[in-house]
Amino acid sequence: MTMRRIVVVGNGIAGLTACDSLRSAGFDGELTVVGAEPHHPYSRPALSKALLHGDDALQAHQLPEPTHDATELLGVSATGLDPDARLVRLDEGGELPYDGLVIASGSRARRLSSGQGGVGQGAGGPGAGGPQRDGFPRELTLRTIEDAVLLKERVAARPSVIVIGGGPLGMEVASGCLHMGCEVTLVSDVKPLSRQLGGHLADIFTSAAVRRGLRVVGGGQARLVDHGTGTRVVLAEGTELHADLVVTAVGDEPNIEWLAGSDLLTDGALRVDSRGRVRPEIVAAGDVAFFPTLRGVQRVPLWTSAIDQAKVAAVGLLQGDAAPEFNFQPYFWTEGFGVSLKAVGFMPVAGEPDFCEPGTGNDSLLLRWDNVVGSGTAAAVNYRIPVPKLRRLADEGPAALRPAAPARAEPARA
Ligand SMILES: Cc1cc2nc3c(=O)[nH]c(=O)nc-3n(C[C@H](O)[C@H](O)[C@H](O)COP(=O)(O)OP(=O)(O)OC[C@H]3O[C@@H](n4cnc5c(N)ncnc54)[C@H](O)[C@@H]3O)c2cc1C
Repeated sequence: MTMRRIVVVGNGIAGLTACDSLRSAGFDGELTVVGAEPHHPYSRPALSKALLHGDDALQAHQLPEPTHDATELLGVSATGLDPDARLVRLDEGGELPYDGLVIASGSRARRLSSGQGGVGQGAGGPGAGGPQRDGFPRELTLRTIEDAVLLKERVAARPSVIVIGGGPLGMEVASGCLHMGCEVTLVSDVKPLSRQLGGHLADIFTSAAVRRGLRVVGGGQARLVDHGTGTRVVLAEGTELHADLVVTAVGDEPNIEWLAGSDLLTDGALRVDSRGRVRPEIVAAGDVAFFPTLRGVQRVPLWTSAIDQAKVAAVGLLQGDAAPEFNFQPYFWTEGFGVSLKAVGFMPVAGEPDFCEPGTGNDSLLLRWDNVVGSGTAAAVNYRIPVPKLRRLADEGPAALRPAAPARAEPARA
């Protein structure tokens, strides 16, 4: 069928990229984007890096103004979907009819406090657990610009901080709080970052963090309990920790509640095929979607994954089986405690690297692991290297680093 009206639900990077890609692929019909947050899309990764570190980066999260010429319904949430009638229901009342639908509703921070969550919650409110007696939220999380502003305000007073969660976000928040002069304890059930990166890279970050003063406490199943003006964290084995401020970074949950009853979910998950399709006229991309990878069907809640999925899904919506399939090439970066990491390839990586080259700066390393599935994984630690070159190192091995031999001059012909 000819697509004249396309609706995009979600105005994060996946929604933005889908709109841009639909236009680049020639879609000149009516495009409407529905976004629960009252802003244009912005960079979430910047919220826990430059913005939190306070390094004069108040604008670091801004992205260029959209040029896709869509009708933007900002501060509006989709509350339901009727896929047979091809209608999206809105919280402000009314319905949007579509010929094609892009689901890009992303995810939200998972919380330890009960009774939290819900779409768009972080957009207007404080994005935090129930208030303490002093009126401050008991559990801060970091997902939206409002969360970042609130966290920055609280951290400015240099409170003692407990960060729960040893993944990249927890470590970045801990690094930002330390940088701002707070005393910081990180609670993690395993060595921080080991689940995401593997032991070798996790060691590099954890040693740097401890050298800079981070206190790391092992322990899972943390519970939050009100305690005067602060919060008590109780760990499974009974250990109690106290701090002025508790920030949790314990994963994310896809925003799929608005799809309840639509028949699009399989075992509670939104799954797409290799062209981003849930149905021929419905595609999904970004943190909300499970998609096929070399390591099985999974959600990969990362920035470039959202962008790459959205590009494929937009063309999949317009061209169906004629569209190219998604060839997922993992790329990830994080920074904290004076360590910056760029990595290409599947992670975590097991054991020691097969290749290790020191760079010129302090603690600067270029590393590569041979993977069993797919090509290798290459990681640059405090090492300046363009991402395409890092990708070649992952794919081709160290030979990719050697300069290409100069082309030999053709002998002059008589
Ligand atoms: C603090 C932080 C740091 C990060 N750092 C990194 C990093 O260093 N590297 C990396 O690769 N990734 C990082 N990520 C992850 C990355 O930001 C996400 O993978 C990416 O933003 C996902 O984009 P998305 O568009 O799929 O979802 P989202 O960014 O979640 O956008 C979805 C949008 O849809 C809206 N929405 C939800 N439900 C509805 C509805 N029913 N109706 C209308 N709108 C709705 C939401 O409000 C939101 O605005 C970070 C994430 C955070 C929070």
